[in-house]
Formats: sequence, structure tokens, C-alpha cells
Amino acid sequence: MSLLTVGSVAFDALETPFGKTDKIIGGAATYITLSASYFTADNNLVAVVGDDFPEEMIRLLQEHGVNTEGLEIKEGEKTFFWSGKYHNDMNSRDTVEVQLNVMEKFDPVIPDSYQDCQYLMLGNTAPAIQQMVLERITKRPKLVMLDTMNFWMDIAMDDLKSVLKLIDVLTINDEEARILSGDYSLRRAAKTIMAMGPKTLIIKKGEHGALLFQGDQVFFCPALPLEEVFDPTGAGDTFAGGFIGYLASTDDISFDNMKRAIVYGSAMASFCVEKFGSERIVGLTQEEISARVQEFVQLAHFQI
Ligand code: AMP
Repeated sequence: MSLLTVGSVAFDALETPFGKTDKIIGGAATYITLSASYFTADNNLVAVVGDDFPEEMIRLLQEHGVNTEGLEIKEGEKTFFWSGKYHNDMNSRDTVEVQLNVMEKFDPVIPDSYQDCQYLMLGNTAPAIQQMVLERITKRPKLVMLDTMNFWMDIAMDDLKSVLKLIDVLTINDEEARILSGDYSLRRAAKTIMAMGPKTLIIKKGEHGALLFQGDQVFFCPALPLEEVFDPTGAGDTFAGGFIGYLASTDDISFDNMKRAIVYGSAMASFCVEKFGSERIVGLTQEEISARVQEFVQLAHFQI
């Protein structure tokens, strides 16, 4: 089944307790499409970059089977830039700088060839743009999933609440769930957020795993305890790409299959954090992914 991802393609500058990078390639849609590429061959991207964005990176996405027909390159303009600094626990970070650049006037054009996508991933970008994408898709996809962050809750809460009414699955982290619901208890927060629109909610808890909520059902998938966590940037997006990529490849949106998808998403995220940026999720093999998924099965399986 075909997947359409809309979101940021960016330059990032990162600082973790283990080191610092100059500008490297990042962006929510970069991580999502790379991660999803291991599951679905029909993997379509809508995003915008400036003419400073390296051609070899576009080629790398294409080599991963990503259709870049919807990647707009704006002549004379600069690519979105984000820089972040991680605290010592690597679970929390501060945004040091955001330069919206081309994202400021992002006017997403959905190529005709993408119009019949069955799975839609609205990656992190302004909620008004996410809603615009939904309005520009002529046929409602089978599943619409949205990722957002506290930045948009601070400056565009009304727009966010408006688009939440239109989606099926929301992914946010625990801190964002608490801000959005105004409740500390994640169980109660989940109820409040699902009443805002999405029937399914995923709350990511970094190294403490992820919770999947739907109606009264709840499922938990741990994160793999790794010996080395180098850089958590993009882990949430890589998780989302693995999750929706798996759903698209199996074309099954039941709660039981979403449980499996959460494990695949978590396995992909566990690769992402092992190196800086997207380095570790480029050129993975199916054998590596299957072995990693089995580690999750071993980690969480028990009998009583
Ligand atoms: P994650 O670590 O999964 O939350 O995603 C990190 C990625 O999100 C980075 O590569 C950034 O380029 C991108 N990002 C950060 N802030 C924003 C924003 N306000 N809008 C769109 N993308 C962003």
C-alpha cells in the first residue's frame, strides 16, 4: 500500500554529551521516509528545501526507494534549520535555534500521482500546513497519522486542536501529552486527547518505551536498553516511519497489528540513536531489522 509523508527536510546542528555536529541532514520527513523504506516500496515525500540542500542527499533518499517528485527545491532560498542540545540524561533537550527559512511559506503541492495514497503521515510541521495537506488530498486515506511537538503547542494550539479533529493516530511524547491534556496522569491524558479527535494515541517515553492507546485498550512496548545511546535526534520520527511503514506493508489497521507495528517502530528507533543523525538508518539490512525485532520479543516476553 502507498504511503505519503509530509514534513520537514532540514539541516540540524546537534550537541549531545558525546559530541557536537556542524550542519547535518535531518528533518522529520527524512527520518520517517528512510525508516518506512524498509517496509514499503511505495514511499512518497512532499517537502520543501532551499537550493543549499545537497543533491547527494536527495539521491540517497531515491536510492532508498523514496519518490521525491513532491520535494520542492526553492531557488535562492535556504533550507529549514534546527539546532538542539541534549541534557545529560539524553531524554530531554532544548531547542537552541530554529530558522524556518523555506518552511515559513511552505505551500505543500500534492502531485497527482500521490493522490490515491492509502496511508498518510503528517510529520512534524506547522499544524495549519498539516491541515492544508488533508484538504488538498481528494480521497480520504485509510489511515492518517500526525506527529507534532511542544513548539507548536506553544505558538499554534488552536490550529493544532483543529487538525486533531481530522486524524486517526497521534504520536507525541509524554511531556507533550501532559501539556496538551493539562493532566499529569498519562492514562487520563490519553482519554482527554482521544476525545479531541484521534481514536488512537501513541505516547513516546524515550528510553522508557511507548504506550499505545485506543478506546479502553492499552499496550506498552519497552525501548531496547542499549549499551550506547549516541544521539536521540530523529528517534521519534524513525519510530513513526517504522510504525506506519509496517501498517502500510501489511495493510491491516487493527489494534493487534498496531501492537506489532509499535515493536517495529521501536526497533527502527533503537538503530537511529546508535549514531549521529540518520547515519545508522541508512543501508540497514532486513536481517538486522528482524534480529532487532527478535531482541524486543525476548526482552518483553513472559509467561505466568
Ligand atoms: P525527533 O527527534 O524525532 O523529535 O525529530 C527531530 C527532527 O525534527 C530534527 O531533524 C529537526 O530537523 C526536526 N524539527 C525540529 N523542530 C521542528 C519544527 N518546529 N518543525 C519541523 N521539524 C522540526
